[in-house]
Amino acid sequence: MTTFAPDSIRQFCELVNDARRIAIVCHMTPDGDALGSSLCLMHTLRAMGKHTVAVTPDAPPRNLTFLPGASEITVASYHSERAKYTFLNADLIICLDFNDLKRIDRTAPLVQAASAPIVMIDHHLNPVINGAVNFSHPEISSTCALLYLVLEAAGLDQFIGKDAATCCCAGMMTDTGNFAYNANDPQLYRILSQLMQRGVDKNELYNRLFNTNSLGRIRIMGYCQYARTHVLPEHRCAIITLSLDECRDFGYAKGDTEGLVNVPLSIPGVVYSIFLRQDEPHYVKISMRSKGNFSVKQLCEQHFGGGGHLNAAGGEVHASLDEALAQVLAILPEADSMLEHDGQ
Ligand code: 5GP
Ligand code: MN
Repeated sequence: MTTFAPDSIRQFCELVNDARRIAIVCHMTPDGDALGSSLCLMHTLRAMGKHTVAVTPDAPPRNLTFLPGASEITVASYHSERAKYTFLNADLIICLDFNDLKRIDRTAPLVQAASAPIVMIDHHLNPVINGAVNFSHPEISSTCALLYLVLEAAGLDQFIGKDAATCCCAGMMTDTGNFAYNANDPQLYRILSQLMQRGVDKNELYNRLFNTNSLGRIRIMGYCQYARTHVLPEHRCAIITLSLDECRDFGYAKGDTEGLVNVPLSIPGVVYSIFLRQDEPHYVKISMRSKGNFSVKQLCEQHFGGGGHLNAAGGEVHASLDEALAQVLAILPEADSMLEHDGQ
């Protein structure tokens, strides 16, 4: 069972109670947990009568825009002045699902310029942000679950209505593959039950989150699995690449390759999987997934300017796809020694 320092909860309550205007911000390329936690908190604070604005550094993927309140998000990359105003005029800024201002990209200076105290609620390892209050719990599988526990400990769960509960549930589901991994903690199911009592339609949520695809996504996922997945048995690794030209040919839309990097992990013997997607001529997004104790976080941090979790991490390379692939291949010997060390 998760417990919080009484002082942290007391300070959190004071900051929320004293604030009239609250700004919420999550990491760039928001996923279900980032957007879900932001919207859950937005609905909850609004139910308390707080003027609340949720900001995302860039636009959420289309497949998440069904979440209640998503259309009310301020997207900083489209509306930078509005985002700047939101932070400058906020009495409190709450950072969700990230622990390093690097993760909010060009929104970082807007937050740094603001004078409001910061509360961080996050489940990634090694926090860099040091706010007025910090809830950093890497042992909890989603920021949404952590947020619920914080709100509950603060006595604010009474303000969580159906919309907030739906958004919270969405993040808990997406960060665990619908409770398929990182899902052994019994308290997750207590939270889930509390959320469902508020009227969440979990069946429908599953359909929207896991069982809704565009034709483009089906085709691009199929193409990558058929033609772009390479297993390197000697390295116990799989590598998937997708070039800018291929993205254009398939009419790639943000979110279309979500989950792709997980697929090769289902092949017996594959311990980790790397996906390289060329988003711009000289920018390649790296996604990694692994099993057991093999730390893709370490690889992403040390070689690709990124980070994340032990078994799910990401980074980037500012170079062509060929160059990025060469950089990935160059780290395989180091990864081999990590495999040995982990007894894989
Ligand atoms: P994904 O592969 O789904 O983009 O990201 C997996 C995990 O790695 C997420 O928890 C995400 O927050 C983290 N992550 C992805 N890209 C980056 C990055 O560039 N920097 C850092 N620090 N974390 C990342
Ligand atoms: Mn998360």
